[in-house]
Formats: sequence, structure tokens, C-alpha cells
Amino acid sequence: MKVYILGSGIGGMSCAAVLANKGFEVTVLEQNSYFGGKAHRISEEGFVFDTGPCLLTYPDWFNELFNACGKNLKDYFHYQRLDPITRYFLDNQHVNVASDINQTAINFENKLGLKKIVFLNYIKRWVRIYKISEKIFLLNELKFNFFFLKNAFVWIFKAGVINIFTSVAYYNKVLKNKAVEKIMNRFATYTGSSPYKTPAFMNQLAVVEMINGGYYPSDGIHSISKALFKLCKDVGVEFQFNYKIDNIKYESNLFKIYSKNEVIFSKYLVSNIDYYKTQLLLNRKINRKKLKLSTSAIVFYWGVKVKSSNLELHNIIFSEDYKNEFSQIFDHNLIPNDPTIYINITSKFDQNHAPENCENWFVMINTPANLNVASQENIKRTKDFIISKVKDKVGINLSKSIIFEKILTPKSLENNTGSFNGSLYGDNQNSLMSIIKRKKNRDYKLKNLYYVGGTVHPGGGMPLALRSGMNVAKKIIDEN
Ligand SMILES: Cc1cc2nc3c(=O)[nH]c(=O)nc-3n(C[C@H](O)[C@H](O)[C@H](O)COP(=O)(O)OP(=O)(O)OC[C@H]3O[C@@H](n4cnc5c(N)ncnc54)[C@H](O)[C@@H]3O)c2cc1C
Repeated sequence: MKVYILGSGIGGMSCAAVLANKGFEVTVLEQNSYFGGKAHRISEEGFVFDTGPCLLTYPDWFNELFNACGKNLKDYFHYQRLDPITRYFLDNQHVNVASDINQTAINFENKLGLKKIVFLNYIKRWVRIYKISEKIFLLNELKFNFFFLKNAFVWIFKAGVINIFTSVAYYNKVLKNKAVEKIMNRFATYTGSSPYKTPAFMNQLAVVEMINGGYYPSDGIHSISKALFKLCKDVGVEFQFNYKIDNIKYESNLFKIYSKNEVIFSKYLVSNIDYYKTQLLLNRKINRKKLKLSTSAIVFYWGVKVKSSNLELHNIIFSEDYKNEFSQIFDHNLIPNDPTIYINITSKFDQNHAPENCENWFVMINTPANLNVASQENIKRTKDFIISKVKDKVGINLSKSIIFEKILTPKSLENNTGSFNGSLYGDNQNSLMSIIKRKKNRDYKLKNLYYVGGTVHPGGGMPLALRSGMNVAKKIIDEN
């Protein structure tokens, strides 16, 4: 059986590997000359940057994929558990989220004045809820049958009805500690959503990182894309690069996949291209006014002539008014004037990611999914703001130290990866309905059309994109 997969992101490659390993003839069609999609790499002038994702969570799921293909992940890539996971800069101090939750609770008590027991009880609750959610919502394709409804009722009972109707930020007021509330609110951004809108049960996202751990793969995140590509090749997947799909039609039970010079016919089709971009390729109408997209980003890839002593691999410098930041993004469609700043420095682990006495700073802020928002003027304003904030909070003067610069904007993200309006994760999860109505893995009309990747179920981020690919592969295998 022949299957075409459109796009070589994490979701596309995981689906391709599982299918090929079961004897399917799989070809991946990719517009770029490289694989990995958002998880690509810049390597210039002695500096190496991961282009998108920086933090690995759920490494067990990657293990599961390699095992399902009869391979050992250790033969493909290596990773280590991080400690600390993230350093947070708040007011005039910083605090570490550690690998061990007890240590994190101690750090919160010592530095931020929240009683250890209060935090441990808080997180215990979300661990319980997370465990049920993982079984019901993440590990399988969503099917609205009797068993799903029964499980959903059990879940609502355990999670608490109130947590469906209040927001993450509202719930987190139970902590009665503004600094820890801010840290816990931030996990809503892992779905590209606002903590002031997304339902309180999404607090369980914290469990993924704070309990299960944050990881760093040797040589950075791109080593995951490389590992998946090698896995695909080892099990017989074919790749065609520089192959941009322009149009898809469905006639006489076959998909016609159009590119510049060719038409391919296929009975089965898996799209790893952004869900909304795929709808456009299918010549379907999108009601743009009704779309509620997740955040996009501006990323500065800065090669700096600096050796920082008080920064870790992952660092967050919070905005002063977190609520206003999300209001500017989601209600006003603007780049926040005081954005929260994320800094990732992989040369702390891999010295060959920067020349001697230099570091590779990946500096990211959240923006709306809006192709016009990153004007030259806004980029300059944001850059000046970041430089001044880093000086103020971290004590490092970057004004004469940036010796290499590349910039990712919503527009370049759309150009490079096909992300609709540059949104990182497709639809946002700012309401219960948007979570329930997250795009499914199977097309609502065309039976043999499937969707994988971070814009569909179960969600955004590398592990969930990987899971979507594995779930769809299982479905196709079961049906044949
Ligand atoms: C700045 C940034 C930071 C992030 N941080 C994290 C993080 O820390 N941790 C985490 O887990 N996740 C993070 N993510 C999200 C993560 O990168 C994605 O969820 C995941 O990589 C998505 O994979 P995907 O399978 O959806 O494919 P994508 O990476 O979206 O790839 C889609 C592929 O389809 C190809 N394509 C598109 N259109 C066409 C066409 N017409 N014809 C042929 N091919 C086409 C593209 O070229 C691309 O290769 C981040 C993303 C970004 C951008």
C-alpha cells in the first residue's frame, strides 16, 4: 500500500517511520531542501542555533516510536535530564525550577516566600488530573463514542466542573503568591494560549515539565529531527525535497497532488502541513474572521561576544504586567510593549555552538499570529527593549556585543514552514470550545485524508506532534 505524506516535520516523519516499518510504501514530499520543519537549524559564522523548539519533554514517547520501529533510540540520539530546567527572573531576583519538585518547592519557599507544603499540595492535584487526561485525551485518536463520553464524565468529575469555567490565572490565585502565580500561568503559553482565558484544567501542563522533567538532546533539538530522518531512511521511507505542493484535488476516490511539474495520484494522503494551509490547498474556504489562532513569535538569533555567568540553558525574564501582555497579543493583535523574554543558550552545553568567548542566544517573545505585525520599526523597538531589559535584570550589556543576527518573524515562519499566519500551534486553546473543537486527525469529509503535526489533535509541541503521527499511522495500519 502506497502512502504520501506532505511535509517532513516531526509529525510527518513519525507517521512515515511507523507506516514504512509495517511494510507500507511511504514517500514524504517536502517543499524545503531540508527536513524537520520548525525544528531546523542555523549554522553560520561559527554560531549554531535551533530555529524553533528548544525544550524537549516526554522523551519516553520518542523511545516508544523507535521501539515500535524495532530500533533503539540510543543508537540515534542522546539526551540528558536538566537541572535546573528553567531560571526565572522576577522583580529583582531569580529563582530556579529544579529537576526535583521538592527542590523547586524549597526554592519557591526560600526565594519567593511560598510555603513548600502549599506548592506541593497544589502540584499533587494537577498530577492526579494529568494522569487521567493522558490516558483519555493524549494517547489515542479522539473518537466520540460511548466510551469516550463515559471517560469524559469521569474526567470532569475528577478535574472539577469549576476548572472548566474559570481560567488558569484565576485558579492560580489559590497560591496567594504573585511570583509563583506568574510562573505557573506561563505554562498556558505552551499551547500558544493566554493564561487569562484558557480553562483552569490546563494547569496540568505544568506537570509535563515540572514533574516529568525537561531534557536536552546532545547537539541541540535538531539532533531529534536528524534522528527521525535517519530512522525513516533506515525503515525505507523515500523523501522528495524541494517539492512544494500547490494544490490537492479529490476525484474518483483518488487524491491528485499537484506540484510545479507533476501530478501524483494517491489513495491515501497524510498532511503534516498546517491544518489551515492544507484546507487552502484543498480549495476549501476559510472564514478568516472567525479564526482564533495561537500565538506566533519573534526570535532573535544572536551571536554575542559575552560569557554569561548568571544565565542557564533556559531563562525567562517576565514582563511587569503579565495580564496586559496577553491582552495586547489576543485582544489588540499587537506586539506587547513589555514582552516576557525567553533566552536559550545551547553553547552552555555544546561549546561548538559558538566561537571562543561567545555564546549563541536564542531570544524569543510571543506575538499575535499576524503577518504584518513585525514591521522594521516594531522589530527595532523590541530589540532595544530586550537589550535594555537584559541589562536591567541580568546585568549584561548587549548593546555592543551582538556580532551575529538573524530574525524570525510570523511572516518568515509562514514562508519557511507553511504555518498559517505564523501561528505556532494552529488554533489557540483560549476556551473550552476551542479545546473540544481542536482539529481532528481525520478529515471530516474525505475518508482517506489524515492530518498530523502540531496544529491538530492532540496538540502543539514536538512530543504531541510525534504522538499525532504515531496515532494516525496506527489507524491506517489497523484499517488495512
Ligand atoms: C519559535 C518556536 C519555538 C518552539 N518551542 C517549542 C519547544 O520549546 N518545545 C516544543 O516541544 N515545541 C516547540 N515549538 C513547537 C514545535 O516546533 C512544533 O509543534 C513541532 O515541531 C511541529 O511539528 P509539525 O509536525 O507540526 O511540523 P512542522 O514543523 O510544522 O513542519 C511542516 C512541514 O511541512 C512543510 N510544508 C509546508 N507547506 C508545504 C507545501 N505546500 N508543500 C510541501 N511541504 C510543505 C514545511 O516545509 C515543513 O517541513 C516551537 C515552535 C517555534 C516556531
